[in-house]
Amino acid sequence: MTAAAAGRRHRMGEGTPGCGPLIPPLSETARPLRQQIFERVRAAGLIPRVQLARELSVSPASVTTLTSELIEAGFLEEVQAPRGAEGGRGRPAVALGVRAAAHHVAGIKLSDREHTAVIVDFAGKRIAGEAIARQPGPMELAGLLEATETLLNRVCAKAGLARGDLSAVGLGVPGFVDCPTGIVHWSPVLADRHVPLAAAVAGRLGLPVHVDNDANLVTLAELWFGVGRRLSDFAVVTIEHGLGMGFVLNHRIYRGARGLGMELGHTKVQLDGALCRCGQRGCLEAYVADYALVREAQTALNLPNRETQAVGALLESLYDHAKAGNAAARSIFHRAGRYLALGLSNVVNLFDPELIILSGERMRFDYLYAKETLAEMEAMILNTGRPMPRVETHAWGDLLWAHGAAALALQEVTEGLLGQTRDLC
Ligand SMILES: [Zn+2]
Repeated sequence: MTAAAAGRRHRMGEGTPGCGPLIPPLSETARPLRQQIFERVRAAGLIPRVQLARELSVSPASVTTLTSELIEAGFLEEVQAPRGAEGGRGRPAVALGVRAAAHHVAGIKLSDREHTAVIVDFAGKRIAGEAIARQPGPMELAGLLEATETLLNRVCAKAGLARGDLSAVGLGVPGFVDCPTGIVHWSPVLADRHVPLAAAVAGRLGLPVHVDNDANLVTLAELWFGVGRRLSDFAVVTIEHGLGMGFVLNHRIYRGARGLGMELGHTKVQLDGALCRCGQRGCLEAYVADYALVREAQTALNLPNRETQAVGALLESLYDHAKAGNAAARSIFHRAGRYLALGLSNVVNLFDPELIILSGERMRFDYLYAKETLAEMEAMILNTGRPMPRVETHAWGDLLWAHGAAALALQEVTEGLLGQTRDLC
């Protein structure tokens, strides 16, 4: 027997008996029935018990027992449902809804130009929103904690709630975030690396805090409140100061084994290429994001190269030049569009999503998302004769990111209250 074969035999023979994938007893698809019932009610808004039993393929008796427990615990309530189109006489139909006042959570997004926050109730309805402008650039942790607390106090005051009325806070920052541990490995809003941000903010606020990457939060916002509610597999690509991506796989955010997956902006599109903010070269982001366009604009259009010049103003200027027919300005957008097409075609070839949502504040820079970009993308997707996935552009409101952060907090609160290891009473 060769040494290699012996090694192979040793590796294959050791370890756990049996064969086939070893799946943990509580995988995401095997949530407790009461949690499935609660989440189905929240997704529906209002739903009668019979329909609930039908949709979850469980007996009406189980639904009656479990919904009674959920009502007893104060999570659900009975509501007189509006009559159907047929009108009908007799007893009004009774439906179940989430008891909105049972819990409140906050969603906060910290970013380069402004911090935003929302408060939503247990049914996911927004109660209040707030935004604070800030000077761009990285902050020390102490300053960031101060800003977070000020913002939270202001949005709580708007909602008429005390901070102690909140059950959790979802927090989003740009950069490399390990969601399960709450550690931010790198972020343009933080001066330090490897900051245990969730623990630090939780210590300051006295509330449970969950941190995630901002692109994941936009994706959560689409999954909870947008077009993603009806889709099982879709991608969201955010194009702002950086280039981010979130991916939903079987109705859940996919984060990778170490919580750092889906960094589309740092996939390489050029060997020894342009320098990226992450310190490496040839990243997609270094050709497509705001700062890449600004860098090119300053050179090509001979625009003032001052630190104080706002990125937004420079981009507006570039856009105006392109619209006025300036060939250099047009070619900058066109080139960025080609790189974007390259990145998107890679996403399609890897994941085959049903829909790609291009999400950003300034999606009106239509040169970047022009027909040519989509045609270029299609040309790089494997040719199977089928139509390529749909691509939609969504310009977002200021509070969308914070909304996604609130969804993260709601998800965690629900898991904590109704997950496997908890008793209701
Ligand atoms: Zn990079």
